[in-house]
Amino acid sequence: MLSFNSVIVRYGEISLKGKNRIAFELKLKSNIEKKLEIQREDFSRVILKRGRIYIKGIKDVPELKNILGIYSYSPALEIKKDIEELEKEIVNFFSVLKGKKSFRVRCQRIDKKFPLTSIDIERKFGEILFEGTKIPVKLNDPDLNFQIEIGEDNIYIFFEKIKCFAGLPYETAGKLVSLFSAGIDSPVATFLMMKRGVEPVLVHFKITDKDYKKVLLLKEKLEVFTCGKKMKLYVINRDELFNEKFSSLYKNEKFYPYMCVLCKYLMHKKAGEIAKQVNAEGIITGDNLAQVASQTLRNLFVYTTVSGFPVYSPLISFDKEETIKIAKEIGTYEISTMKSEGCIPPKHPKTGVSLEVFNRILEETELK
Ligand code: ATP
Ligand code: MG
Repeated sequence: MLSFNSVIVRYGEISLKGKNRIAFELKLKSNIEKKLEIQREDFSRVILKRGRIYIKGIKDVPELKNILGIYSYSPALEIKKDIEELEKEIVNFFSVLKGKKSFRVRCQRIDKKFPLTSIDIERKFGEILFEGTKIPVKLNDPDLNFQIEIGEDNIYIFFEKIKCFAGLPYETAGKLVSLFSAGIDSPVATFLMMKRGVEPVLVHFKITDKDYKKVLLLKEKLEVFTCGKKMKLYVINRDELFNEKFSSLYKNEKFYPYMCVLCKYLMHKKAGEIAKQVNAEGIITGDNLAQVASQTLRNLFVYTTVSGFPVYSPLISFDKEETIKIAKEIGTYEISTMKSEGCIPPKHPKTGVSLEVFNRILEETELK
């Protein structure tokens, strides 16, 4: 009975790095170890080799999908690097081909000095498998893709490459404060920055309890990608944000149309204070150009400059469909779309506030 005994992990972008490459590789390795320790204990070793990480003594680890920086992985059979050993093993694979309509053998040599070429190996083992099973070879879109990898130390046999999120390992880029609402966008924006190695510190301005509960669930969803580390979450009440002036301003006809941009301005100001406190180097938002009244270029200019920190909004040019697709992939969509009452924006909010007018409003509202 055939059983896999290892997993091959491939990483994409890290392999393009120059001098820093080893630091990224070691971080990815330690993230894998942390994740596996939490999930299960039956792996023996994680081994770093040029361009690959091998996990020995394990059959399959679906949790690998959630480790950022991994491009793909394959549950595999690891054998000695010896062509006779491979010949001996191959007969055990006849049963795997049973019931399949077609197959092909693909070989990749990481060890370029191996005496047989990839084509030699593909031909030789294609023939053995065909003779043993009489299943036809089909090079294009076969039923079973029989893959052989000649590594530096071992040979691996596997059938599939399971695609992961790729990107860079968690915690290789530094810290950013993330303006985190209960909506669809900010969890996706936060995830995309995590995928570039960022450790986010979440800041939520609490308007309703329902939204706050959603935020806690969303935080948990993103923690799937942190290899066991809890994320920090700051919760600030709306009244605190507006120096307890929110209701009076909301009811004031003059200030009412400016509420959205005022609100975002105060959020960014507060986020800047928190960023200083936690030594973060910028702010993440789920802003998306022209999505709502507060997200025009003019308004964005007014509120994204107040903190003095750079603002990263990876969804700025996305179509909503693109954001929703990612939200579904990372499991935040179901939570973000749960019914809740967030803020009620003014009927005719200001869409293009100039800095000059906005500064006047700030003075008059005494919110500066
Ligand atoms: P999302 O954009 O996450 O779907 P939303 O639609 O409620 O939430 P927008 O009005 O689009 O929020 O605001 C743009 C961005 O401002 C959000 O993506 C988020 O980064 C930030 N933001 C909005 N509301 C809050 C909040 N209550 N707490 C923290 N940040 C917020
Ligand atoms: Mg939004």
